[in-house]
Amino acid sequence: MRTDVIVVGAGPVGLDLACRLSLGGMSVRVLEQRTEPTAHSRSIGIHPPALEALDEIGVTDRLIEHGVPVREGIAMRQDGPVGRLRFDACPGPYRFVLAVPQWRTERVLEDRLRELDADALMSGVVVSGVHSDRDGTTAVADDGRRFTADWLVGCDGKKSTVRQRAGIEFSGRSYPDRYVMGDFADQTEFGPVAVIFLVKDGLVESFPLPEGRRRWVIRLDRPVDDPDADSVADLVRMRTGLEVDARTSTMVSGFGVERYLAGVMARGRILLAGDSGHVVSPIGGQGMNLGWLDGRRAAEVIVRASRDRAAWPGLFRDYSVGRRRAAARAARRAEFNMALGRPSRTRPLKLVAARLMLSRFLSPHFARRFTMRGL
Ligand SMILES: Cc1cc2nc3c(=O)[nH]c(=O)nc-3n(C[C@H](O)[C@H](O)[C@H](O)COP(=O)(O)OP(=O)(O)OC[C@H]3O[C@@H](n4cnc5c(N)ncnc54)[C@H](O)[C@@H]3O)c2cc1C
Repeated sequence: MRTDVIVVGAGPVGLDLACRLSLGGMSVRVLEQRTEPTAHSRSIGIHPPALEALDEIGVTDRLIEHGVPVREGIAMRQDGPVGRLRFDACPGPYRFVLAVPQWRTERVLEDRLRELDADALMSGVVVSGVHSDRDGTTAVADDGRRFTADWLVGCDGKKSTVRQRAGIEFSGRSYPDRYVMGDFADQTEFGPVAVIFLVKDGLVESFPLPEGRRRWVIRLDRPVDDPDADSVADLVRMRTGLEVDARTSTMVSGFGVERYLAGVMARGRILLAGDSGHVVSPIGGQGMNLGWLDGRRAAEVIVRASRDRAAWPGLFRDYSVGRRRAAARAARRAEFNMALGRPSRTRPLKLVAARLMLSRFLSPHFARRFTMRGL
């Protein structure tokens, strides 16, 4: 059962990484606890740097077929538009944010992995222990099976067993911000445009989805235990004046905001990638994208380390430093996005700041920043 690499977790980050390693000529085993594909769609936004990275494994065109290219975002208040952010001013080749439900993205990646290596993905394997020594790594499943490899990457999400078993600290905090979100039939005139409502009662975000649907995200002052479609539709109506038909809802959920970062993203022969290494606020939609950028770098260092065994400690150290730095930068950007949407006494000042950011001179800079350039 020995392979070059073990990847723990077949979420978007683990699947992408496995495709990269396979294309790099390495044998990979992906251990996933789920036995069924996910049906939920937490994440929807794929940013241009990630589209470029995903092109390297041959899936960007397939994702574009299933998604909506969002070329423009508008900020609105009750009395009209505050300004616009146009992504077509960003560097190419992809001058848009692609909106695709996460379950679809995972399916496209899983299909690609099966094309590259039909046996790579093992479902129903719950990893409960990991070991790393000078000869290699071992993943131990809860049913006692053992899998060995030269290298192991934990892509097992924010509660990562790999991170915990490797003894890597995960520090950060939760924020008071609370949100509800829901997917509904799109009854607006916005088409492929994303709209942010900076209204007095609190932020509302609205994103196009494929198949004539739209996601609504609403900031709340306190948690709602069990949000339902009617309450989300009511909030949208009250804050924006727009109609949402609760009967068309396909998903409603609530979420809080956290910021966590692993103390290191490499220990021994083990690397972390994606949410196992960092959690950033979903506002701004960066977490999955950041994970793919980790995966791209992780694949590079693993392929190089396999060719030059003496170099691996340095390569892994550089990976850890570089990816922690990128995660910290993304978290700061997400915090900035969240702060703009918080109701406060300085609201008039925030509106002036928003107008300035969306002005003809500054908006290209903020469009690049929003679309995750430089991470
Ligand atoms: C409401 C919301 C909206 C979001 N929107 C966006 C967005 O628009 N854009 C964006 O970039 N990000 C977004 N995110 C973040 C994004 O969803 C995550 O960053 C992304 O899912 C992380 O991917 P991952 O592969 O690292 O981890 P996960 O998606 O958590 O996948 C981990 C996998 O590991 C498996 N696993 C876990 N433990 C074990 C184990 N012990 N053994 C075997 N398998 C295991 C799990 O079953 C799972 O399949 C959003 C998040 C939320 C909450």
